[in-house]
Amino acid sequence: MKEREPAAPATPSPGDAGARALSAAAWLSAVLALGKFAVGLATGSLAVLASAADSFADALMSAANGWGYRQARVPADEDHPFGHGKWEGALAVGQGTLLLGIVGGICVSAALALIRAEEVRWPLAGVAVLLVSGISSGLLTFVLGRVRGRSVVVAADAAHYRIDLAAAAAGVAGLLLVRATGRHWIDPLLGLGAAALMARECAGVLRKGLAELLDESLPPAELSRLEAILAAHRDRYLDLHGLRTRRSGPVRFIEVHLVFPAEAPLGAVHRAVQDIGDSIREAFPGSRVLVHPDAAGH
Ligand SMILES: [Zn+2]
Ligand SMILES: [Zn+2]
Repeated sequence: MKEREPAAPATPSPGDAGARALSAAAWLSAVLALGKFAVGLATGSLAVLASAADSFADALMSAANGWGYRQARVPADEDHPFGHGKWEGALAVGQGTLLLGIVGGICVSAALALIRAEEVRWPLAGVAVLLVSGISSGLLTFVLGRVRGRSVVVAADAAHYRIDLAAAAAGVAGLLLVRATGRHWIDPLLGLGAAALMARECAGVLRKGLAELLDESLPPAELSRLEAILAAHRDRYLDLHGLRTRRSGPVRFIEVHLVFPAEAPLGAVHRAVQDIGDSIREAFPGSRVLVHPDAAGH
């Protein structure tokens, strides 16, 4: 007996909160990149030009995430009967790796500055640009953090802006402390401290992406909700086994085998399977549910 196919998840509407937040992040970063580039050219400050390059990379990453978010919501087709949700996990793993490389670069330059006992010299324009970067990263962290649902690309984008926020905060704090104390090693030391926080964010992005690619089970809270639904229908089947769950982008896949008396009428079994499947779909909108009936003793 086969469950009726639930409707495939639709492509995101233009009003989709995740898609909207990601494209806002891409546009804000692009505008910042242009502004910083203009300031950098006008003042000749290398620090400002480097910050412009970072904002440009931010815009590209957010645009890539927005693209992946949409791609993951393209309905299942003949070639991809399970849908395209794995785009999210693949993008998160790629981005986590890239960000880890950037954090490694920050560590190397901070270590070199410490060893060479470099003097920190930042023009006023550089400080202003750090402040603007920090504020916009904080804003984007907030906006992306408010998106409901558990999209790993939205989480990866938010982690990226938290990393930029940490870098800007460490930069501003370093400059102020160096000014106040005259000790130049404070700045690279703060940079190393921020890099440790950033490495944690990268690990989180990689872990979430890999969990989805490796078909990790749904989180414990969702599993216990699922078990509660099955328990509520406990009088309609004898036993259950083979409960398996996974997630692919926006779609959860849930399957379970229910055992019925061998002599139970097919119509009643089918109704039970249908009702239980519907209850699960209602609790997990957009999920693909397969309830398979087994005959006791067979
Ligand atoms: Zn960045
Ligand atoms: Zn079975």
